[in-house]
Amino acid sequence: MTTKTQRGFAVRCLHCGQEECVRLDVHNLDTFTCSSCDTEFSADDVRAEIDRWARLLAWLDTAPDAA
Ligand SMILES: [Zn+2]
Repeated sequence: MTTKTQRGFAVRCLHCGQEECVRLDVHNLDTFTCSSCDTEFSADDVRAEIDRWARLLAWLDTAPDAA
């Protein structure tokens, strides 16, 4: 790896929702930076977001059919 910054991950920015703009500084692996809105967020922020989605999906599995 020769570049200092990894970019182009197929994920959306937690803040602006832009795709493939999240960069990861290899010297600070816990911090992501969005090149679109310039917001920094941490791996823990992502984990918290995934956790909220996981809870919603788990709830969907138990939800009664609307039909
Ligand atoms: Zn952004």
